[in-house]
Amino acid sequence: MQDSVARAGVESAGQPASGSPPGGQIPGRADAAGAYNPGMLTADLVRHLDQYLEVARYSDASNNGLQVQGAPEVTRVAFAVDACLATFEAAAAGGAGLLIVHHGLFWSQHLQLVGPHFARIRTLITSGVGLYASHIPLDAHAEVGNNIQLARMLGLGNIEPWGLYKGLPIGFIGEYPSPLPLGDVYTRLRDEIGEGNLVQGHGGPNPPTAKRVAVCSGFGVTLIDEALAAGADTLVTGETSHTWYQQVAERQINVIYGGHYNTETVGVKALQKHVAARFGLETFFIDAPTEL
Ligand SMILES: [Zn+2]
Repeated sequence: MQDSVARAGVESAGQPASGSPPGGQIPGRADAAGAYNPGMLTADLVRHLDQYLEVARYSDASNNGLQVQGAPEVTRVAFAVDACLATFEAAAAGGAGLLIVHHGLFWSQHLQLVGPHFARIRTLITSGVGLYASHIPLDAHAEVGNNIQLARMLGLGNIEPWGLYKGLPIGFIGEYPSPLPLGDVYTRLRDEIGEGNLVQGHGGPNPPTAKRVAVCSGFGVTLIDEALAAGADTLVTGETSHTWYQQVAERQINVIYGGHYNTETVGVKALQKHVAARFGLETFFIDAPTEL
């Protein structure tokens, strides 16, 4: 986790689009450089996100949706994987009215507003940055979700929903036409999202190969038996722990750990493109890697 805003990189990806975006656009205004800067009501953006991501569909430990109220109007929107002080400070420095994250601030446990939790929320409130979180909905989404994005990056065919979380599929599974060396699959993933953490191949005396691949970002190793039951020879997920190493080694399946952070940058970046294209808002991605 980053401890300083200087370590959180900012990638400006969204260019303002022309035209009249649907839903609640407010009159635009000129910025300091005189450029027309369209904006919209934050409430309309939040309503769209809730509907598009099907927030109400999923039972989740995360309190998904608008977690902290910010400015009533928004012209710049920041995106990041994690809600933390580094991303909050970078969002404020970049002039964002709303920060959209995968891992929000509020989960099933109740937290007093003291210490680091207080400092985080104070930063948001004093800088006028709202916080919107989308956890399971952004894993599972069929267009911008982490798992469909990863499945496409891996070049899988016949992709279909897989991997249940509280009764609903959140992952995807697909196939290669013929088995690929596991190292080639890892290379495809690494070229898209960066270095992974670990590859556990299961080839016996032969080099491991992958044909049917299940995908679940983050801590998806818990779905390993479900992957086997679905006929997968390979699971692509984010992170592992010491406890899981031998559990995986004793099963007839390969597991590629692309990194919890790295496998969950793809959903927020895809959502960033969606928001920029649909509403013409300026957007930027805040990179605050954890190396986990
Ligand atoms: Zn996660």
